[in-house]
Amino acid sequence: MERTLVILKPCTIQRGLVGEIISRFEKKGLRLVGMKMMQLSDELLSEHYAHLKEKSFFQRVKDSMMTAPVIVTCWEGVGAVEVVRTMTGVTNGRNAQPGTIRGDFSVSFQENIIHTSDSLETAKIELNRFFKEDEYFEYRPAAFDYLYACDEY
Ligand code: ADP
Repeated sequence: MERTLVILKPCTIQRGLVGEIISRFEKKGLRLVGMKMMQLSDELLSEHYAHLKEKSFFQRVKDSMMTAPVIVTCWEGVGAVEVVRTMTGVTNGRNAQPGTIRGDFSVSFQENIIHTSDSLETAKIELNRFFKEDEYFEYRPAAFDYLYACDEY
């Protein structure tokens, strides 16, 4: 099973979309194994968005992520990183396909609802950045036998 990070951005909290977004991942069949509310700092965001540090919008994106709290979540499932990334849609909400989260809820490049890890390697690094080991919860979903065939996990 893979684990991946999903951050519900300040725009999602401010627009009252938290339940809608969490519900998408629940309905897909992913297992929620960690969730907490956080106020992000410039320091943490500089690390998280280090790949954007040469971009003109670097500080603006970080500022936007600090305007309200975020909700950080960890989801688990077979191929969870790719499943979640596909559900997320492309970065610019205006170009994201209808049916994806960004495609359905965003009209912006920046205010695009969620952050999701883009590879298994990145997911491991990002999860370590936002969660401590004792903040994950192990349990067997009641519907587990109806989510996967026995040779799929
Ligand atoms: P993604 O979130 O799709 O993995 P990136 O890692 O490239 O995309 O960018 C991180 C975040 O920075 C995006 O989710 C978005 O909020 C913001 N961003 C990226 N590119 C732009 C841009 N050209 N203009 C404004 N904001 C941007």
